Amino acid sequence: MPNDTDPSLPDLAPDEHFCFDCNPQVPCFNRCCAELTLPLTPYDVLRLRRHLSLDSKTFLTSYTTMQTMPETGFTLCTLTMNKEPGEPCPFVSPVGCMVYEDRPSACRSYPLGRGTRLGAQGVIERFFLIKEDHCHGFDEGPERTPISWFEDQGLSPYNASNDRYMRLMSLVSAGKKPLDERMQSMARLALYYGDEFRQMITKMRIFKRLSLSQERQERILRDDMDGDAACLDFAYDWMELIIFGACDTLTRA
Ligand code: SF4
Ligand code: SF4
Repeated sequence: MPNDTDPSLPDLAPDEHFCFDCNPQVPCFNRCCAELTLPLTPYDVLRLRRHLSLDSKTFLTSYTTMQTMPETGFTLCTLTMNKEPGEPCPFVSPVGCMVYEDRPSACRSYPLGRGTRLGAQGVIERFFLIKEDHCHGFDEGPERTPISWFEDQGLSPYNASNDRYMRLMSLVSAGKKPLDERMQSMARLALYYGDEFRQMITKMRIFKRLSLSQERQERILRDDMDGDAACLDFAYDWMELIIFGACDTLTRA
């Protein structure tokens, strides 16, 4: 299938084979962990900040750059590279990635890219191979497919959450009216500052205005990784409800 966006990034079918391996013995080890424009999705941020035992504000201030995307008004968050020769990632070390268990989606999927868009039946995905000259991972290694690689790299929860962000942005984009400033701030808080959003939920008694099971409420308010993921999932519903006035998975009381 031809790649309709960039001919230098060939498309791969979900079950198409490619050979790849990355380990500390490759001559290019760590070469790809520098000088990156590395986007961080809300789910990436919650995993990283938990890994580092930091609150959202400290993590975002210390490690990221945040901008507003003019077409939608949503936040584009990127990991800030260290300002030293070679601009290494702040989490790279001589023995590899220091946040490996919770590394961002883009690091997990490399050397595969996953493009998504919203279709009539839901998310449509396509895979493409990123072959860069410095990467020796293609020299040898086991046969893989996009499906096996994504499974191997633990991408399921990342993709599920990231697809929700894509859906929200696509719906706003389709309306051709970016979020106003108040909604921009709310979206940034709810999606990127999960711990502060959780405090707001309690303070503003948001659950009182919604039809939400007791079990889901308790999960959202739990201060652990699972609670953070539940809170982010709720944040997507909440944003959809307050932007569009309706959400399939969340209703007003
Ligand atoms: S987060 Fe880890 S895998 Fe990703 S660029 Fe940084 S060091 Fe490399
Ligand atoms: S450049 Fe490729 S093979 Fe080398 S460390 Fe990075 S991903 Fe692995």
